[in-house]
Amino acid sequence: MITMPTRDNSAGRPTWLEIDLDAIQHNFAMAQRAVAPGVALFPVVKANGYGLGVLPIAQRLLEAGADGLCVAMVEEADLLRRAGIQQPIVLLSGLSAGLEQAVVALNLQPFVFDLAALPRLSRAAGTRTVPLFLKINTGMGRLGLTADTVAEAVASARALPGLHLDGLVAHLAAADQPDHPSNSQQLHNLLDLLTRFDLTGRRASLANSAAILSRPDTHLAWVRPGIMLYGASPFFPANTGRAIGLQPVVRWCTRILQISTLSPGESVGYGHTFIAQRPSRIAILPVGYADGYSRSLGNQATVLVAGQRAPVVGRVSMDTIAIDLTDLPPVATGQPVTLLGNDGEAHIDVEEMAAWRGTIPYEVFCNLGERVPRYYV
Ligand SMILES: *Cc1c(COP(=O)(O)O)cnc(C)c1O
Repeated sequence: MITMPTRDNSAGRPTWLEIDLDAIQHNFAMAQRAVAPGVALFPVVKANGYGLGVLPIAQRLLEAGADGLCVAMVEEADLLRRAGIQQPIVLLSGLSAGLEQAVVALNLQPFVFDLAALPRLSRAAGTRTVPLFLKINTGMGRLGLTADTVAEAVASARALPGLHLDGLVAHLAAADQPDHPSNSQQLHNLLDLLTRFDLTGRRASLANSAAILSRPDTHLAWVRPGIMLYGASPFFPANTGRAIGLQPVVRWCTRILQISTLSPGESVGYGHTFIAQRPSRIAILPVGYADGYSRSLGNQATVLVAGQRAPVVGRVSMDTIAIDLTDLPPVATGQPVTLLGNDGEAHIDVEEMAAWRGTIPYEVFCNLGERVPRYYV
């Protein structure tokens, strides 16, 4: 019922993404090995599976033994349910006022982060029982119940009809720095509340990818692996996914659209930001910032042409970029070019692209444009 597009060279754009589902499964197996038996795994597939295409990924993760899935928004859960996925779905942050009916209808397990949501959810439950988690702000300082409202929330979740308090959850602010003192402090705060409200042994959760790999003490009852599944290091910029045994999931490819020769003094693209200093062979590629190839990559990035690096020259346009082929062996129009991922032995890792852009791997993935076809290999 989930259809998986496969690549057809004869049709469609000559710019595409190859998503390696076996690599995702390999990375998921790393998360499975990192946790003790009995700890449940709920992979995070929010934002269209970190931009890579949620349905094939969700299906593969469930086949590989995921206990359920986490999404951010009701719409994301709806897409999974429409595709026939019946496993538990946790709603991480999307419980806004007015969405309670949808949460009940889709049989979601929401993170509840404010008191007022509880009576609303109870009314929406009708004859059903909604399993919920109370999301505690243990130090992240973002979403969550503050310490002074937890007691009232626990009492309310226990007293109101149609609600079942499954456990307490929180999110770490500095899990990418395993030795940061706030990790232990946040864990301590959560454990303290579990004891105080007699919830030890229930479905508590704290760990994201970084904590799964570096802090077994935070694993509790169930964990929420995200970025590691997609092949990027949760410890960026300290290392790469490849260096810690994760497999790259994404290959972003295109083909040369046009090749021209520039004389010294001639320029490339908007604003004349690249001016040829020598006779230069310049290739135009059909990919731009509308595809998620960020404008900040202009005069910054390199691409791989038959395993060799060629610099991106001039500004990134909406639909095109230019690369300098002058130092490379001759190639023809139609030549494949790798923007991200493996090209034989050579590779451009998402961490490298994130560093060029001054961002993190999460954003590189999430920015991948909707108009770029994704093929699952
Ligand atoms: C996105 C998210 C995760 C996954 O985090 P990664 O760093 O990608 O592993 C886990 N928990 C919550 C609450 C999230 O929002």
